[in-house]
Amino acid sequence: MAENYAKETICIQSGWKPKNGEARILPIYQSTTFKYESSEAMGRLFDLEDSGYFYTRLQNPTNDYVAEKICELEGGVAAMLTSSGQAATYYSVFNICEAGDHVVMSATVYGGTFNLLTCTMKKMGIECTVVDPDDDIETLNKAFLPNTKCVFAETIANPALVVLDIEKFASVAHAHGVPLIVDNTFATPINCNPFKWGADIVTHSTTKYMDGHGMTVGGVIVDSGNFDWLAHAEKFPGLCTPDESYHGIVYAEKFGKGAYITKATAQMMRDLGSIQSPHNAFLLNVGLETLPLRMERHCSNALKVAQFLENNEKVAWVNYPDLPGNKYHELQQKYLPNGSCGVISFGLKGGRSAASDMMDQLKLAAIVTHVADARTCVLHPASHTHRQMTDEQLIEAGVAPDLIRLSVGIENVDDIMNDLAQAMENI
Ligand SMILES: *Cc1c(COP(=O)(O)O)cnc(C)c1O
Repeated sequence: MAENYAKETICIQSGWKPKNGEARILPIYQSTTFKYESSEAMGRLFDLEDSGYFYTRLQNPTNDYVAEKICELEGGVAAMLTSSGQAATYYSVFNICEAGDHVVMSATVYGGTFNLLTCTMKKMGIECTVVDPDDDIETLNKAFLPNTKCVFAETIANPALVVLDIEKFASVAHAHGVPLIVDNTFATPINCNPFKWGADIVTHSTTKYMDGHGMTVGGVIVDSGNFDWLAHAEKFPGLCTPDESYHGIVYAEKFGKGAYITKATAQMMRDLGSIQSPHNAFLLNVGLETLPLRMERHCSNALKVAQFLENNEKVAWVNYPDLPGNKYHELQQKYLPNGSCGVISFGLKGGRSAASDMMDQLKLAAIVTHVADARTCVLHPASHTHRQMTDEQLIEAGVAPDLIRLSVGIENVDDIMNDLAQAMENI
């Protein structure tokens, strides 16, 4: 938006901007295909000579209006929606890596990301070195190889709640001539814009706070346009040498700052699919309208609940970056001064078994795999999301076996605390 509006305004007004007589609300283009008047016009689209819609597997107007809104919120130059957060992670890396390449990844990333990069992409010939996000620059440097193509990390790790020192990671990645990709799911663009701190590409699982109502699985990739692919052309042949599947187009030359997302659309989506359905994009857009209001409430509720847990005698430990005294409080103050997110982790003095007993007693908070939506929910990662990981991997990922992940919703905060209090009394 030329007007330079604040995020609250972008969330409501950006993306779909109806012209005279058009629908006030974003239309759902529930159409697989798009009509053209001449064979020549259609042909030019297939050559990437003109931009336009031809088949929803590649692009759909509803999706693009929503992607545009998220792109503005992050301060990027181009964005694309994907069918899930996993697809966003996968494409964000695979768009610039191929067999024989290597990725550096923070150990505390989401379990799904961990599996994708260390197991599934390994089968595709892409190796991954896992680093401790708290390592100093000298140690981080040692993880890089001549074939390293990117660094991947999370603003706030799910569920370890490690706050990333984005500037440190960006400077290390750039010193090795590769981009930093940051999964900004938990912070949302309301609480942090990783581009401001040097990240080059941002991904989200829009399934979480962005949708916010637990309705739709989705993802998004946003490009800052800041990484100079041509300056490191030998590392990124996919962007800097002719694409034979598009008559020899060189993305970085033809599309400049739009190269990365154009390639992701023209190649990744064309060949691998995983587009978000336009109907889901419409629902995501409704969620985005209230994102700033919800994040404010999630954060204020979570801080009160974290303080309440800290003062409860059955609680062994509480991890929430916004608490003074937390290991990551300083980084939270720097990168997320308005609050981190609504997710807290804690352990009970009774350990692993007390955790599941307590969870069974909850009446308001539900046991669900989901996290980061309007409803308060709990999960025990060691027995649920991170079940595939060994104890060693769990500890490395910052997930203690007794860790309870509490996703504080936007209900009345006293009701949430009363529910936790009665559940802990009953164990
Ligand atoms: C949930 C999540 C993902 C995966 O997203 P899906 O939409 O479930 O595919 C990726 N990263 C983070 C931080 C997540 O919380």
